[in-house]
Amino acid sequence: MLVVMQSHATPEQIQAVCARIESLGLKAHPIPGALRTAIGITGNKGAVDLGILEALPGVVECIPVSKPYKLVSRDAKPEDTVLRIPTPSGEVVIGGDKIALIAGPCAVETEEQLMTVAERIAKTGVRLLRGGAFKPRTSPYSFQGHGEAALKLLAKARERFGLGIVTEAVDHESLDLVERYADVIQIGARNMQNFSLLKRAGRAKKPVLLKRGISATLDEFLMAAEYLLSEGNYNVMLCERGVRTFADHSRNTLDLSIVPAVKKRSHLPILVDPSHGTGLRSKVLPLSRAAVAVGADGLLVEVHHAPDQALSDGMQSILPSELEQLVAEARQIAAVLHRSVN
Ligand code: PEP
Ligand code: MN
Repeated sequence: MLVVMQSHATPEQIQAVCARIESLGLKAHPIPGALRTAIGITGNKGAVDLGILEALPGVVECIPVSKPYKLVSRDAKPEDTVLRIPTPSGEVVIGGDKIALIAGPCAVETEEQLMTVAERIAKTGVRLLRGGAFKPRTSPYSFQGHGEAALKLLAKARERFGLGIVTEAVDHESLDLVERYADVIQIGARNMQNFSLLKRAGRAKKPVLLKRGISATLDEFLMAAEYLLSEGNYNVMLCERGVRTFADHSRNTLDLSIVPAVKKRSHLPILVDPSHGTGLRSKVLPLSRAAVAVGADGLLVEVHHAPDQALSDGMQSILPSELEQLVAEARQIAAVLHRSVN
């Protein structure tokens, strides 16, 4: 259920409607929009009696939301959500007419590795650095990441090169740490339906980048995001990273058609990860171009200066020189769509 407020409704009227909703044992989520505030209601088992709320001052109408997701839906907020990620070198904007690039190694390996690649990345103008400290690996014998030591290195790179940090949390314990060090908390594909982790991330004070599960439908993806918003975290961006199909020419099948599908249904920004989406270095550039062309709000790419020596995902990591080309081309394609890369 959504309560749509008048454009000139006062903060007191909005507060009174929220209080009334809460008094019914339900949860109120005011969603300020460009024109008016809508108030999402969750916690109801069935239909809520419309009459009570519609009679309150400042209310235009109450509309039942038929979709299973509510807060992430465009019904709740017609205009795009635009995220502002603070970094030591100013804000990075994601969504609306701004496209953001996130680049870095799959994992933080050594100080030398991270600083070398971070320096090259910063030189290309990319302002968000990725790098896993906690790695969800298929095999328990594969490199699992250096944990907090890696987070400390990311924090060092952050200060040295003015980059915002995006890094993955795999459980509650790592989320506590990641929330402290990073600017964006990444929830990986394998954890897209880890509901207790989603609830914890929903209570975090940092933005969340939520990756699509390897076999998740659009509804499942949006419902996972709904967990984050329902716990109070509205700073959420989605990320398509390829799904499992019968195709054997690439690691995954990058489902670019989900970008316009998400945009139709949700106000949240959606990024594309062509690295995990293809698993192959030579496919990262062409699919990055396509992702920007299809309307993605950002790209997440793996970059390594010596990919053959990478401890994980070397095959799909591009070289810093290729990132330069990617940035230049993304800017040109973005311009055609009246958008800009920041
Ligand atoms: C990653 O970004 O390094 C990663 C593990 O991604 P995904 O969760 O999409 O596999
Ligand atoms: Mn990886």
